[in-house]
Amino acid sequence: ETETPVGDLTAPAATSTVKISNRERVIFPEGKLTKGQLADYYEAVAEIMLPWSGSRPISLVRCPQGRDKKCFFQKHDAGSFGDEVKHVAIREKDGHDEPYLFVDTPAGLLTCVQMGTIEFHGWGARIEDVEKADRLVFDLDPDEGLEFKDVVSAAFHLQDVLGQMGLATFPMVTGGKGVHVIAPLTPTAQWPVVKDFAHRFAMALEQADPDRFTAALAKARRTGRIFIDYLRNQRGATAVMPYSARSRPFAPIAVPLSWEELRDLDSPACWHIGDAAEMVKRAGSKALAQWGRADQFLPDL
Ligand code: ATP
Ligand code: MN
Ligand code: MN
Repeated sequence: ETETPVGDLTAPAATSTVKISNRERVIFPEGKLTKGQLADYYEAVAEIMLPWSGSRPISLVRCPQGRDKKCFFQKHDAGSFGDEVKHVAIREKDGHDEPYLFVDTPAGLLTCVQMGTIEFHGWGARIEDVEKADRLVFDLDPDEGLEFKDVVSAAFHLQDVLGQMGLATFPMVTGGKGVHVIAPLTPTAQWPVVKDFAHRFAMALEQADPDRFTAALAKARRTGRIFIDYLRNQRGATAVMPYSARSRPFAPIAVPLSWEELRDLDSPACWHIGDAAEMVKRAGSKALAQWGRADQFLPDL
């Protein structure tokens, strides 16, 4: 007769495969959240995070000494990550290839955390063909004076207009100030076409309702408005990945939602790295099981 061994329940839960050093180091001074807690979070959500993020080139926001100390945005391997953080060669503008990163295993995610990573950002294309977009993302960036409910109603407006063009969309709160409205695409269109579509779409929103929306980069034009950041839709641009932690106070996370859930939400940062179990449970729910999945193409605009 075999008995299932009962683990030491007081021991840290994480990292059967990757050694996390300095687990007690405080990474988020607000709330005194540690590197160990961040690693435990990523270990718990790896299975729900990797289906979306695992097949894309990623960039990392690394803050080895904590979010209040020096942080940097890393696109390429400096040679120090080991085997679990993989490389995909991508052609730069000047014609030479650079090794971009991707992580498609829990150990890969945890290796990045061990190296001081807080945030994971990803391309809108898969490593199999980085020239073709597999999603549109409209990053809604509200001016400071606006309330979150203004962002929510703007997101619903985008859902409506994109829906009229035949595109199903899925919302995600960023853990920061805004919402991303995401339309998955079957990857057939090249980046210049996708960028042009996104730009013209954002300009059309502004033209129809200039008091509410702007597609202009200039900060002055954003006063009291929501900036439709269409520039996530160009080659090499990244957006924060679903379930990524954010390097902001109290370690909020980016959370995919159903449209129903977004309707009643009061904040874009109401979950944090303590909520891994809830995330895993939600991801299996009927409302979210199909999140980010749709076989669809860019319409003519
Ligand atoms: P919020 O809801 O607060 O706007 P966000 O994730 O949308 O959160 P933004 O500042 O609007 O944040 O978006 C910035 C985007 O630019 C990120 O999604 C990221 O992928 C990318 N980014 C962030 N930092 C850098 C950087 N140093 N260099 C290049 N791209 C970056
Ligand atoms: Mn944003
Ligand atoms: Mn933005």
